[in-house]
Amino acid sequence: MIIDAHCHAGKGDGLTGPWDTNAAIRDYLKWASEYGISKTVFFAAFHSDYALANREVAKIVLANPARFYGFAFVHASRDAGRISSMIQEAVSSFGFCGIKLHRYDARITREVCETARLYALPVLYDVMGEIASVHLLAREYPDVNFIIPHLGSFADDWKAQQAFIDPLSRFPNIYTDSSGVRRFDLLKEAFCRAGANKILFGSDGPWLHPGVELEKIFALRSGENAQRRMLSENFLELISQVKLPKTKTTRLVTRRTSGHALKALVLEQRDPWLL
Ligand SMILES: [Zn+2]
Repeated sequence: MIIDAHCHAGKGDGLTGPWDTNAAIRDYLKWASEYGISKTVFFAAFHSDYALANREVAKIVLANPARFYGFAFVHASRDAGRISSMIQEAVSSFGFCGIKLHRYDARITREVCETARLYALPVLYDVMGEIASVHLLAREYPDVNFIIPHLGSFADDWKAQQAFIDPLSRFPNIYTDSSGVRRFDLLKEAFCRAGANKILFGSDGPWLHPGVELEKIFALRSGENAQRRMLSENFLELISQVKLPKTKTTRLVTRRTSGHALKALVLEQRDPWLL
């Protein structure tokens, strides 16, 4: 079985680039079928309201729950105070099994990590090359599993990706996915040093072709068992403990300050794929 552990779905509400405008999955689904990818993990595109965006992704996931998984997208600062209630809804009503966030929106916070711990959810966090934070996450939350996509940098930052292989190899709770990784020698090195148990196949569809991305896993010539780990087993293990804790959900609180709003407005204009 092949599971694509990284794909976006649904409309964004921006108009900056494809990443915040529309993650249309019609072609993606055709390509995935052609390449034998039987299951896919979906999460939203960049959005100004992730509670809303997650509900849109839920419609897609729940239309075919045998084929699709969902991760809840959160904005660590804009959603501060309501992360727990968003995750409660995502897990209990949508059956979602992970949390996704991006440093382009805001740096990860303790609130996100503690919520992940409470629900035993893996956290897919794009650090955008900020590898030092991976060491902090690994040590502060040894019981939370983090998937750091793209070997730590979608922008092919060689120094960052090279540096990331160290914490990937060292900390049992740090994983990566193969999506968008262009430097094959680094993927190979990650595989040799950290092992197949730490790498998940992901495509970053629908913008990247899942078949093209899948070929990188095959090109590792890893052997059958290792390949199975990367193509499905690692992911299934990471979501195997998801639970609904018996706690009251946090009341919706908005803590955004005008300073935050201004910063968000400035960041909005930048291309998150090139940072
Ligand atoms: Zn992505």
